[in-house]
Amino acid sequence: MNPPQLLDGKSIAATVLDECRAEAAALLEKGIRPGLAVVLVGNDPASQVYVGSKTRTCSDLGFHSLKIELPTETTQEQLLKVVQDLNADPSIHGILVQSPPPKHIDEEAIIRAIDPRKDVDGFHPENVAKLVLEDPTGFVPCTPAGCMKLLEVSGIPTAGAEAVVIGRSMIVGKPMALLLVSKISNATVTIAHSLSNDLPAICRRADILVAAVGRPEMVKADWIKPGAVVIDVGINRVSDPSKKSGYRLTGDVAFEEVAPLCSAITPVPGGVGPMTIAMLMKNTLQAARQFHP
Ligand code: NAD
Repeated sequence: MNPPQLLDGKSIAATVLDECRAEAAALLEKGIRPGLAVVLVGNDPASQVYVGSKTRTCSDLGFHSLKIELPTETTQEQLLKVVQDLNADPSIHGILVQSPPPKHIDEEAIIRAIDPRKDVDGFHPENVAKLVLEDPTGFVPCTPAGCMKLLEVSGIPTAGAEAVVIGRSMIVGKPMALLLVSKISNATVTIAHSLSNDLPAICRRADILVAAVGRPEMVKADWIKPGAVVIDVGINRVSDPSKKSGYRLTGDVAFEEVAPLCSAITPVPGGVGPMTIAMLMKNTLQAARQFHP
């Protein structure tokens, strides 16, 4: 078997970001500066890394970028007020509240409080409905949108393919399945989850396997149909004393044993991760365009 095509999210994301930079410059000429506000409550280290790279990417593209860092003790009412102020701020086109918030925050209520026209994460029920309806004015959640872009740019056909998505979260699994089954992609989709029976057998049917679980190296070689395309969404920290940080990142797929069986596979890191930020920038541009048609 030929070695697998490595789906290089880093370089594909760089191309998407170049397009975003050019589009931002064109909007700036019309006097419109795309603006993204990122709200972080608490001091979760992984969230701090994500928020930092989102705001840096914004600045790099010439967007207006606002980072609001709030202490862990921030109340629901205080956070709602921040969201309401951002809803009313004309310099801001996109708002995201970094997940997960501290336990005392009702995340669902916060998402519902975001103006759906600024919900660049695509989590508001109005945008979920638009995804189901295949209405292109809605915002598609960034991670599954990034997975679809990886497939598209890499020339991987989806029409008629058997796709299996492991994970049914509203952030990755469900929207991913909806995108794959859409009239644009036309895959035949199975969604598997923690209570699915015989997960390896389900996965062995997949021409396209998407793993979005959060369990390091769960997907093994004998779960893979030879020639399958494997998209590994998982980002897991596993302890590694040989690293300065004391940990390394690994996906949900046992890459070393799975890769030789695949026609294409994403690495972790450097696969889906960079695509997520690139699609967030695309969504922010879409929001800015829709505010200034
Ligand atoms: P989640 O915890 O909300 O959902 C996990 C899903 O996996 C659930 O639907 C659950 O049913 C399923 N699951 C759990 N254990 C299972 C098992 N043993 N067998 C089968 N299914 C099982 O997580 P999420 O937010 O969807 O994220 C999933 C993973 O993707 C995490 O590792 C997360 O860090 C990563 N992630 C990466 C990006 C990125 O940019 N690359 C973005 C978001 C999430």
